[in-house]
Amino acid sequence: MPDKATHRELAAAIERDNAREDAGMHGDDRVTCWTHQTWARDCADDPIHTHPSAHHRLRPHPSDGTRA
Ligand SMILES: [Zn+2]
Repeated sequence: MPDKATHRELAAAIERDNAREDAGMHGDDRVTCWTHQTWARDCADDPIHTHPSAHHRLRPHPSDGTRA
């Protein structure tokens, strides 16, 4: 179980990755995982990441076809 400081650092890193991805960064360059809300390295072996068809779109984008 991560301690509080680590959790805050992770939350900040996720926000940072979200902003960078919105700015055009490729999802593969994230250091955090939106799907698992953890460090990317900690879940790199998860099938959702190793399965090619699930490789992209780790995070739902508000602009992706959901606009009313
Ligand atoms: Zn993950």
